[in-house]
Amino acid sequence: MKQASRTVHAGRGGKAGISGVPLAPDLSPAAVHVYTDLDEYDAVARGERPGHYYGRNSNTNRTMLEEAVAELEGAEAGVATASGMAALHLAILALAPKPATILAGRELYGGTLALLRQDLEPAGYEANLVDLADLESVLRGMESAGLVLVETITNPLCAVPDLEAIIEMAQRRDVPVLVDNTFASPVFCRPLELGATVVMHSVTKYLGGHSDLLAGVIVGSNPLMAAARTRSVRTGTPLGPFESWLALRGMRTLDVRMRRHSDNALALARAMRSMPGVAKVHHPLLEESPSFAVASRLLANGSGGMMAFDLEGGRAAVQRMMSRFQLVAFAASLGGVETTISYPEITSHRGLTPAERAELGVGPGTVRVSVGIEAPEDIVADFAHALGAA
Ligand code: PLP
Repeated sequence: MKQASRTVHAGRGGKAGISGVPLAPDLSPAAVHVYTDLDEYDAVARGERPGHYYGRNSNTNRTMLEEAVAELEGAEAGVATASGMAALHLAILALAPKPATILAGRELYGGTLALLRQDLEPAGYEANLVDLADLESVLRGMESAGLVLVETITNPLCAVPDLEAIIEMAQRRDVPVLVDNTFASPVFCRPLELGATVVMHSVTKYLGGHSDLLAGVIVGSNPLMAAARTRSVRTGTPLGPFESWLALRGMRTLDVRMRRHSDNALALARAMRSMPGVAKVHHPLLEESPSFAVASRLLANGSGGMMAFDLEGGRAAVQRMMSRFQLVAFAASLGGVETTISYPEITSHRGLTPAERAELGVGPGTVRVSVGIEAPEDIVADFAHALGAA
């Protein structure tokens, strides 16, 4: 099956053709299932018989979502959690259960950086943050790394690390690789096929796709996911039935949404180059992007809806632009059908000092855009109007 067909059918377990089975899944909010036979319960609890017994261990809707994402990423199994951050934490503990050095990019999502610095480092882990575009420092970092953590596309400047080269270096040293594939989605990148060990998503973003739920998921091999699942059960982080149901409903249109997001983002990025006050446009598939060569290979079919730009005039200019938008909204998330902007200085990168932000290339004029699936002409026109071009 092609990926587009998988997104429509994944997780159904081949049940779509059975008489009387609902085409869309029923929502099953039950916290617990009833059993009349102790041996049967025992077999289900041991995993020897299919079924559900307690909602923290498994739930019909969560299982469907987990199986669907696993299928889309080419994984054996998945575990869905209450948010992307819970998924990330679970994945790190699955791959590095004891304190280790985590080699990661400097441009990590702010929440991930906070988890490393404020929760994992006090517990004995070490975060070694390097410029992932500098493969020599990646190689040096590999010597002490117990785990490598890479985002397929970085936030907010949309750089694309050379995942294949990094994975190859890690494999030579037997270091597991965890990929946050939230921005690219399995429509454009399937890191497990490149040799990554575990992939995680903030389902809140593109997989859900409608800005109406918080969820996370990790996918990987059966043994890793079995261990992660029991940890998630012990620590109480599984995703609830309704969010699982909503996420799967959103995922059914992932393929068409991602292609539209991707086309729109590239169209907006190209148009923005000549808009007044725009000093620089960041999109990995623009020819002038430092990531162009890697992105053209790794994300050959598109890079999704994320892009950024630097506006002359800093915060005041950003505020002026915002006050003129008619369609675009300011919202500190991404991946929904609607075009939104975020201002990293006070959102994703507010925990950094101005100097630290400047080192990453994030300035007072940096605006991140999550380009939606509206008509591209309308999105371009709204930015043009807001920037005074029209
Ligand atoms: N990873 C990335 C790349 C993100 O952008 C986010 C959220 O913005 C997360 C992880 C965390 O996901 P959640 O907000 O669902 O916990």
